Amino acid sequence: MKNQRSKFAKVLIANRGEIALRAVKTAKKLGLQSVAIYSTADKSSQHVLQADEAICVGPAPSLKSYLAKNAIIHTALSLSCDAIYPGYGFLSENAEFVDLCEANNIKFIGPAADSIREMGDKSTARKLAVKNNVPVVPGSDDAYESRDEALLASKSINYPLLLKARAGGGGRGMQIVTDGSVFAEAFQRCSAEAKNAFGDGYIYIERYFEEIRHIEVQILGDGRGKAIAIGERDCSVQRRHQKLIEEAPAAILSSESRQQLHETSAMLAAGVKYEGAGTIEFIYDPKTTEFFFIEMNTRIQVEHPVTEVLTGVDLVEAQFLIAQGASLNNIYPEQNSSGHAIEFRINAEDWEQNFAPNPGIISHWSPPKMPGVRIDSAVYEGYQVVPFYDSMIAKLIIHADSRDLALLRASDAFRSFAIDGIKTTSGFHQKMLRNNAFLNNEISTRWVDEVFLGDNR
Ligand code: ADP
Ligand code: ADP
Ligand code: MG
Repeated sequence: MKNQRSKFAKVLIANRGEIALRAVKTAKKLGLQSVAIYSTADKSSQHVLQADEAICVGPAPSLKSYLAKNAIIHTALSLSCDAIYPGYGFLSENAEFVDLCEANNIKFIGPAADSIREMGDKSTARKLAVKNNVPVVPGSDDAYESRDEALLASKSINYPLLLKARAGGGGRGMQIVTDGSVFAEAFQRCSAEAKNAFGDGYIYIERYFEEIRHIEVQILGDGRGKAIAIGERDCSVQRRHQKLIEEAPAAILSSESRQQLHETSAMLAAGVKYEGAGTIEFIYDPKTTEFFFIEMNTRIQVEHPVTEVLTGVDLVEAQFLIAQGASLNNIYPEQNSSGHAIEFRINAEDWEQNFAPNPGIISHWSPPKMPGVRIDSAVYEGYQVVPFYDSMIAKLIIHADSRDLALLRASDAFRSFAIDGIKTTSGFHQKMLRNNAFLNNEISTRWVDEVFLGDNR
């Protein structure tokens, strides 16, 4: 099915938290009506309070509310919504949901179901990258459920290996294998975990690179075969394969590497006639300057604001405009990026206790108000952080003329950012901002786990 672009007037926002609030604001700015959906746990959330209309779609568990496809479609139809904005997580990469939207004449603000299908299976996406001459990590051609087939496929790849669930995401469904003697056991475990977490036990194999950076490229496609790259982000500050801090531009890239990454990404997106905002993720080896495709996320990314403050491009607005048929030329005739941007994810977690979730009432909330500092958040003083969803409560985004100035500004911002009542990752970020390896940008994707936290799991 096509998910054809068309004008719309009333948007249902199928998400919660900061991204839902952001979409409410974008709808307002564009003169569109907004409808928030919420679970019983979220009735006093900002996205609910600020949308033109709000409707409860079910109880707290996501499966019964934010993932309840039929209830959401039913709500959209009953309130005469002609578009749905998916945000990130939840139904944002669910091809079946896009089909449902299409069948009910509702515009899904995002790519066609087929694009999501092609890219959502990470092993198929790899094949597509190969077909488009995009370098991929040395690895297996296919994904396997059979241990023996996987073992056979592993013979041609150098150790260490990384087993990856083809349906995986959010940093889950991955397992490092250090040598052949433990391959079979690791495969069984990874496949069983993937089956449990994603309902799919198929695993593919990649060479595991030990000293790399995660670099990703923001793209916008018009759905007709034209796509542009809007800068890259370095997301190498990760804990257990999950991003904590993201920066733009990626300061370690030479201008040639940068240009190559942008061109490659735009070409891949154009090749699949991609529509809307998407991100092509790579791992980058600073020693050899080689880069390898790892996956594409067919949605807006959590860290998109660093690109927005750097380039002045409003990516959420772009999603809305492209969905209504705007051409890329009309939206952004040229790019104009300047300075350096950094985003810090503030999660309701006790970072000193293994990042354990720490829900509760925010008794005091006083975010910094200073130039070059942006907060994307939907919480407020007295808000109760509930335990049912992702623990991110805010993103602190800094923009300055250089990376060094951005780091200084970030320290100032954290000093005047008061959050009481719950534990957050703010202390982690403040400690990072005193660390020389981070300040000097001398880290890799394993650095937080192995060096900074000394967690050698
Ligand atoms: P990003 O990829 O945008 O940097 P994350 O990896 O943190 O950010 O994912 C964004 C959100 O989507 C998180 O809430 C994460 O839990 C969720 N998410 C991403 N992929 C999946 C998936 N395959 N299954 C379930 N949740 C996912
Ligand atoms: P997810 O779908 O969970 O986001 P990704 O494939 O994007 O999974 O990988 C998440 C992270 O795992 C990357 O950002 C990187 O840090 C690490 N990673 C992925 N593939 C490799 C690899 N082949 N070698 C080393 N690290 C990898
Ligand atoms: Mg990823």
